[in-house]
Amino acid sequence: MLSERAKNIKPSPTLAMDAKAKAMKASGVDVVNFGVGEPDFDTPENIKEAAIKAIRDGFTKYTPVGGIDGLKDAIIEKFRKDNGLEYAREEIIVSCGAKHSLYNIAQALYGPGDEVIIPSPYWVSYPDQVILNDARPVIVKTYESDVFMLKPEALEARITKKTKAIILNSPSNPTGLTYDRKALERIAEVVLRHKLYVISDEIYEKLVYDGAEHVSIASLGSEIKKRTLVVNGLSKSHAMTGWRMGFTAGPKEIIKAMTNIQSQSTSNPNSIAQKAAIEALTGPQDFVQTMRSEFDRRRRFLVSELNAIPDVSCITPTGAFYAFPNISGLFGKVNGKPVFSSSDLALFLLEDANVALVPGDAFGDDNCIRLSYATSMENLKKGVERIRNAVGKLK
Ligand code: PMP
Ligand code: GLU
Repeated sequence: MLSERAKNIKPSPTLAMDAKAKAMKASGVDVVNFGVGEPDFDTPENIKEAAIKAIRDGFTKYTPVGGIDGLKDAIIEKFRKDNGLEYAREEIIVSCGAKHSLYNIAQALYGPGDEVIIPSPYWVSYPDQVILNDARPVIVKTYESDVFMLKPEALEARITKKTKAIILNSPSNPTGLTYDRKALERIAEVVLRHKLYVISDEIYEKLVYDGAEHVSIASLGSEIKKRTLVVNGLSKSHAMTGWRMGFTAGPKEIIKAMTNIQSQSTSNPNSIAQKAAIEALTGPQDFVQTMRSEFDRRRRFLVSELNAIPDVSCITPTGAFYAFPNISGLFGKVNGKPVFSSSDLALFLLEDANVALVPGDAFGDDNCIRLSYATSMENLKKGVERIRNAVGKLK
């Protein structure tokens, strides 16, 4: 009955874990949820007010497929101000979340026989979106000893005649790595030599720490800009996950193809959310800094607590809101059931300690687990304590 495509696809593991944790909570279990990557802050009032005004003004009809001009102009200004990038309206498309932006790109660029390079650890949806579009994900492993940074030699070694694109994510989900300018320059050089495209997912741009600077690979020169699709959105920067606001900037032929595809699938993104997005991008930005400082405080706490647990080690993330500790030191230990993988440990922690987190194998690295610290300090303290006690029972 089902298509081959439907048979080959698995549900998003991050969303699945979140659903499981929420179901346990609803049934009365006191679960600490480190599972989903979603700011625990509420959307700022000025943004909500802009949406309420849009409803009151009757801005509740179809809009142009790729987004209203006012929003495109706000996005253009954001790229100019934050990234030193110049785009025209026809080089911008607004979609229903960055996940949808990435999906439209996959539809517009990938096809049978194409290979798409994805450095691992990767965000869960990248390989599946490639598969959904009949292309082949080529996973290039990166190493903890390199803070999970992709080396240009490793990239080059996996490029074939079929390679179409590489998906880069900085700051990274799940590792928290932020690529510096030099590293990006070296990757850009390989990309240009092989005439690939870069899909640059910059959704965590605003969440960088320890003096790390976010650099968009597209800003490194006019040639690489022509080969880059920059994806960004408001889910993380403005705590707007439910509003579904993502956008892409890139070469106009690709943006046009994405707009045609979007016109046949979702039509325009939500009209009300578009008005809210203009306010998010052009209104006061102090909220973003307040949230970032709080995440920074939680990051430092969580990483030091994780490193204090025997047989667990965690590199210090410089971006996003995830810790990605190595837990392979626990493999082979037993409490009832033996722990041989990140999934075994995640299940043990869920059942024994009522702590929800995502096993690293969902991100292509079975030695690690992912904890989101986009949750209250109180939850972090409680959760870490539970993990420490549960891990202490493994012998
Ligand atoms: N990219 C990365 C790396 C993410 O972690 C997420 C998580 N939500 C997204 C894209 C998609 O974000 P959204 O669709 O909410 O804009
Ligand atoms: N990106 C977030 C995460 O990694 C939200 C879940 C998802 O979109 O898959 O947890």
